Amino acid sequence: MTGTTGVPPVVVLAGGTGGAKLARGMLDVAGDDLVVIANTADDVEVYESHVSPDPDLVTFWLADRIDDRGWGLAGDTFHVMDGLRELGEDVWFNLGDRDLALCLRRARRLREGATLTVALAEAAAALGVRARVLPMADQPVRTRIFARRRWVAFQEFMIREQAQGPVDGVEFEGIHAASPPAEALEAIASARAIVIGPSNPVISIRPILDVPGMADALRASAAPVVAVSPIVGGGVVKGPTEPFLAWAGLSLDAEGIAAAYRGLLDGLVTDEPFDRLRALRTDTMMGDAQARRRVAAETLRFAESLS
Ligand code: GDP
Repeated sequence: MTGTTGVPPVVVLAGGTGGAKLARGMLDVAGDDLVVIANTADDVEVYESHVSPDPDLVTFWLADRIDDRGWGLAGDTFHVMDGLRELGEDVWFNLGDRDLALCLRRARRLREGATLTVALAEAAAALGVRARVLPMADQPVRTRIFARRRWVAFQEFMIREQAQGPVDGVEFEGIHAASPPAEALEAIASARAIVIGPSNPVISIRPILDVPGMADALRASAAPVVAVSPIVGGGVVKGPTEPFLAWAGLSLDAEGIAAAYRGLLDGLVTDEPFDRLRALRTDTMMGDAQARRRVAAETLRFAESLS
């Protein structure tokens, strides 16, 4: 499969923050030939709607509609949440009004029998995004976390429990019955480069790789596979990467990231000195549009030099 310009696609695997920022930079570099495969194990059904946080954040970034807070649509209002609160509802999951509209429509499309792949594509098209944002699977997969001696759903752990570690278990419920959408397999097979974005390796990227058939497809592709490390200046830019790496027995450095993707990578992009794999050492902080474009361009050039 080729993108709209007939060039083999650049595939980015992404969660919602680091991977999404890299995807936005890659849009500048690869244009509409970008295909993002996003984590859907964080999805949640709430307020009769279907929220797909990672694919939506990627879509909002690609549409230049991401809010400055790092989630949701820029300029969104929160009247529905205010209204629910006034009615005595426990509003634990905050969704903007337009965001809710998107998620309500998605729930309806899924009830009508549309696949998640189709529902995401419709939303992306409505927001003017021409690159593709695919789910890792059309079947439901849900991350659950074992912390403080019990299993909790991922969003509850993140929001109600404010991601308070230590984490003692992670499982992806439903993963064995999931499979990559045909569009994802085609993009991987025909890609010119595959980039694992700088997302949380344990809860954002691992679910994607654990979808049966996904890792095999990556290994079978002739395209080089490179990862961009989410560790910047020796630490985490945002989110609970640390307790999850600790649970997985991975160190908080390039070594740990390479170990997380053992057997899959041809190269690693990191700001640390690293010589276990072919590595590109560069500043990987993506604080503005110019930095996002630079990191994406350097990563793509590096990947293509390995093929
Ligand atoms: P989530 O789905 O919103 O939790 O986010 P991700 O899993 O996609 O991203 C979380 C990771 O992104 C953290 O480990 C951050 O260190 C990393 N991250 C955020 N911004 C940047 C950045 O500008 N550069 C790099 N290299 N990593 C980043």
